[in-house]
Amino acid sequence: MTGLALARAGVSVSPDDSISCISMGQVLYLQLVQPYPFPEGLRNTSMPELPEVQTVVSTLSPRTTGATIVGVDILRSDYVLPPGTNVREKLLKHRVVSVHRRGKRIIFQLDNEKRFLIHLGMTGRLTMECPGAARLLHTHVVLSLRDSSGNAFELHLRDPRRFGRFVWLEDDPGESGLGPEPLTITPNEFCRVLASSRRPIKSLLLDQEKIAGLGNIYADEALYLAQIHPLTPSDQIDAESGKALCRAVKQVLKQAIKHRGSTLRDYVDAQGEKGGFQLLHNVYDRAGEPCRRCGTEIARIVLGGRSTCFCPACQAAPELAVPKN
Ligand SMILES: [Zn+2]
Repeated sequence: MTGLALARAGVSVSPDDSISCISMGQVLYLQLVQPYPFPEGLRNTSMPELPEVQTVVSTLSPRTTGATIVGVDILRSDYVLPPGTNVREKLLKHRVVSVHRRGKRIIFQLDNEKRFLIHLGMTGRLTMECPGAARLLHTHVVLSLRDSSGNAFELHLRDPRRFGRFVWLEDDPGESGLGPEPLTITPNEFCRVLASSRRPIKSLLLDQEKIAGLGNIYADEALYLAQIHPLTPSDQIDAESGKALCRAVKQVLKQAIKHRGSTLRDYVDAQGEKGGFQLLHNVYDRAGEPCRRCGTEIARIVLGGRSTCFCPACQAAPELAVPKN
């Protein structure tokens, strides 16, 4: 459908919006996807998601916590935000006091209470390397560190597609634009988030401002576990199903963390190891294959420009209010 046709239908569209349509029976769904507001480059991306970022942090943290930054090489200055920041001056000789995950962001706290974050975008890899290790193509940042035992190592940030960023935060906690964490949200709080929107539940789960850390894979997997159709309007999900979805989100994220995330293409942890949870996906990337629960073929639709997989039998379509003429 063109912008003109949408305008005739009474839908306003700005030039920055992308549009996708889904037809279900007699009803046409229109989804406007607006750009992620801040900062550019940290928009919603599919991979890595919370379990992968958590695995990177868990593999990185034991060695990096307490280490002192003794060298900083920025190989591509436009990968660093805010533009023009002298990261070398900011980081050099400071000790890392903690590394933690918030949503899909990796936040480093320094001994002077300043912070920086790394967002891996779609193809980012943050790995620990030996001193002087080869800098592969698309390596944008190299930090040289000395750990608390005096041993040197390097962190290499490599990102071929460059949707990720290295962001100097100064005093900012780095949480702008992030909703509650899905692993700690209470069922009641989760239901309040659902009630706050009429958008399809799949789109809501991907919205980092509503719930931080979920992406395409784990949203699809959680909806399958809770037996909820991805197009169900969020505010039409009753309390019982909402609480079941909250449990499903936590369950699928915990299992994925246990299996060290999903590797579809690029993702590896900070030690260069791939994840194993992709072998356990029930619906994601399984379109046309039989549902593990009922044998029905897994279906695929495009929602908001994103591939969405579900079982048409286990996840019944919502009762749609068809407009009367
Ligand atoms: Zn099924």
